[in-house]
Amino acid sequence: MSEKTESKKTEGKKTYKFKAEIKQLLDILAKSLYTNREIFVRELISNSTDALDKVKFESIRGTDIFQPDVDFEIKIYLDKEKKLFTITDTGIGMTKGELISNIGTIAHSGSMDFIKKLSENEGKGPDLIGQFGVGFYSVFMAAKEVVVTTRSYLKDESSWQWSSDGSGSYKIEQINENTPRGTKIEVHLKDDAEEFSEKFRIESVIKTYSNFVPFPIKLDGEQVNNISAIWREPKSSVKEKQYKEFYKFFANATEDPVGWMHFSADAPIQLNSLLFFPKTNYETLGFSPEEHGVSLFVKRVLIQNDNKDLMPKYLRFVRGVVDTEDLPLNISRETLQENAVVIKIRNLLVKRILSHLSDMAKNETDKYNEFWNQFGRILKEGYADYANQEKVASLFRYNSSHLEKENELCSLDDYIERMKEGQQNIFYLSTTSRDAADKNPHLEIFRKKEIEVLYSFDPIDEFVLSGLMKYKDKQVVSADQVDLDSLKDVKVDDESDTKKDEKEKTDKPDKKDLEKLCTRIKNILGDQIEEVRLSERLTDSPAVLVSADGGMSAQMSRIMQVMNKDAPPAKKTMEINGDHELVKNMLTMYKKNPKDKYLSNYVDQLFQVLMLQDGFLVDPHKMVSGIQSLLKDASSWYLKEKTEKEK
Ligand code: ADP
Repeated sequence: MSEKTESKKTEGKKTYKFKAEIKQLLDILAKSLYTNREIFVRELISNSTDALDKVKFESIRGTDIFQPDVDFEIKIYLDKEKKLFTITDTGIGMTKGELISNIGTIAHSGSMDFIKKLSENEGKGPDLIGQFGVGFYSVFMAAKEVVVTTRSYLKDESSWQWSSDGSGSYKIEQINENTPRGTKIEVHLKDDAEEFSEKFRIESVIKTYSNFVPFPIKLDGEQVNNISAIWREPKSSVKEKQYKEFYKFFANATEDPVGWMHFSADAPIQLNSLLFFPKTNYETLGFSPEEHGVSLFVKRVLIQNDNKDLMPKYLRFVRGVVDTEDLPLNISRETLQENAVVIKIRNLLVKRILSHLSDMAKNETDKYNEFWNQFGRILKEGYADYANQEKVASLFRYNSSHLEKENELCSLDDYIERMKEGQQNIFYLSTTSRDAADKNPHLEIFRKKEIEVLYSFDPIDEFVLSGLMKYKDKQVVSADQVDLDSLKDVKVDDESDTKKDEKEKTDKPDKKDLEKLCTRIKNILGDQIEEVRLSERLTDSPAVLVSADGGMSAQMSRIMQVMNKDAPPAKKTMEINGDHELVKNMLTMYKKNPKDKYLSNYVDQLFQVLMLQDGFLVDPHKMVSGIQSLLKDASSWYLKEKTEKEK
C-alpha cells in the first residue's frame, strides 16, 4: 500500500498528498470541532510524553542513543506577536520514514469508523479524539500552518522537517544543521485562535489536562506541572479531586470515573496500584476493545501502556497503573505474557477488583447498577474464568418476574434467597422485553406455581447463563427448557386456588380423545415437528413449542439461525392445552370428521403463529394467505349467523 503520491519536487523539499481519509478528518477538525479546541495542547503534550517514555525506556535498556545526556523534558514557548505556539520534547524523535508513516497517515485502522462516529455523535468530538489515535491532527483546529522538526534518537539519523497547512498535502525536507534529539512542533495559530499564545490560557490547559505528565513541562522557562507518581503516595494524602484529575489525564477522558481503587500489596508480590472504573462504555459506540489495558511501571518507570497481560479480557474496561518492584527494569515487552510475576500480579488484581465491585454493589447499589448497565456485557464474559467463576457470577444483575419494572435489577443471590420450598434450580428466560416475557407461554407454569424467573434482554446471556450451568450448587436452567418433573416438588403457597380451578373445569375433554387429536395434528404437520403431546404447563395459551429434551432454547436456536441462515431451526415438540377453547373446538371437529379440511387449516395456522412467537421467520406469503382465508370464512359465518338471528 503506497501512501505517498509525489507530485512536485523543489530543492530537497518533496510534497506528499494526504490520504483521502485524513483530508476528510482534517476538514472535520478544522471546521466543525470549535468547542474545546484547547485539547490540541493536551494531544501534543501527550505525544511528547509518549516520545519521552519511549526514549527513557531505550536508555534504561542500555540502547546507544543520540545525545544521551540531555534531560527528559517538554518545553513550550509562546510568541504573542507572531501568534506562535511552540512545543519541544527531547523524546524519541522520528526518522523520515516514521514522519511519513506516523503523521502522514492515520495509523489507526478504524479511522474511517472514527470519522463516521464523529458525525453520528455530535458534541462528543473531544471525547472521541481522546479515544482514537488521531491526536496530532487536532492541532489543525487551531493552526493555519504546522512545522514539525524532528531528530530521531538513533545515532546515524539526521534531522527532518515536516510542514503543512492542513489542506491537501504536506512537505518534507532534510535539515542540514544538527538539531537536538526529539521533536519541535511550531503551531502558527489561526487569527481566531490567538488565545493559545497567551501564557495564562496555556497554563490553565496544562493544569486541567496534563498536570500529571511524569516529565517537567516548562512554559516560557517555568515548570508548571507537578510530576508525582500519585499511585505511590499514601492514600490519605491524595484528594478526591487529584484522583479525578489524574484519571482524566491518564485515560484522556472528559468525564469523572465512576470509582477507583488505590492500594498497595507486599505479598505475594510488591506493588502499588491505582485503578479506575470509567463511566461510559465506548465499546458500545463501536470502539475496539484493543484500546484498553493497564499501564505497567517498574520502579516508577513506564514499561508499557495498555498492557493486556495484566487484566483478563472481561475486565478490559479497567484503566490505571500498576507499579512493581519485582520485575527487572530491562524486561522485554515480548516476554511479559509468560512472566510468572506478571501472572501473579494479574491474579492479585483480579481478586481485588472483583471484591471491590462486590463492595460497591453492596454499599452503593445505584452506582453499581449504573456501572453494570454500561459494562455488564463485558463483565459477563468472565463466566468462563473458572478460577473466579462464582465471584464473577455474583456480580451479574438481571431483571426478574419478581421485580416490578423492566429497569430494576437483582442478583443471583437475591434470587436464591427468594427460591420456593422444593425449588432446585435457578430459572431464566432470554427474551427481548418484559412484554414479550409476559406473553411467553413457557412462563405460564411458572406463574401458576409462583416461581420467579430471571429475565435477560441481552442475547449474550444465552452463552453466559447456559455456559455458567451452576451457581452455588443450583443448576441454571432456561425456562423454556424446563423438565416439568423438576417443578413437581415446588410448594405452592395457596394450593386451594389450583384445586378450585381444576374442579371448575367440569367440561374437561377426555384424555384419550385429546391424545388422538395429538396424533392427528402430528400427521397434519408431518416433518415440521418432532412430536405433539398434551401440555401440563399451559393455562392461558392454546399451545406452545418446546425443545426436545437437551435441545437448545428458543433464543439460542434463533442465534444459530442468524449465524447460519441455511441451518433449519431445531425441530420442536408441540404441546397443546386441552382446556383451551380453540383446542376443544378442534377436538369437536376432529370427532365429527378426522379429515376435516378446516381442522388441517387451523393446525397449520397455529403452528405458524407459534413459530413466529418463538422468533422464527415463517413464510409470510403463506401465512398472509392463510389468515386472509380464515378472515373471509369467519366474516361469512358471522354474517350468516347474524342474518339468521334477525329472521
Ligand atoms: P497517537 O499518538 O494516538 O498514536 P497521533 O496522531 O497523535 O496518534 O500521533 C501519530 C504518531 O506520530 C504517534 O504514534 C507517534 O509515533 C508519532 N508522533 C507524534 N508526535 C510525536 C513526537 N512528539 N515525538 C515522536 N513521535 C511523535
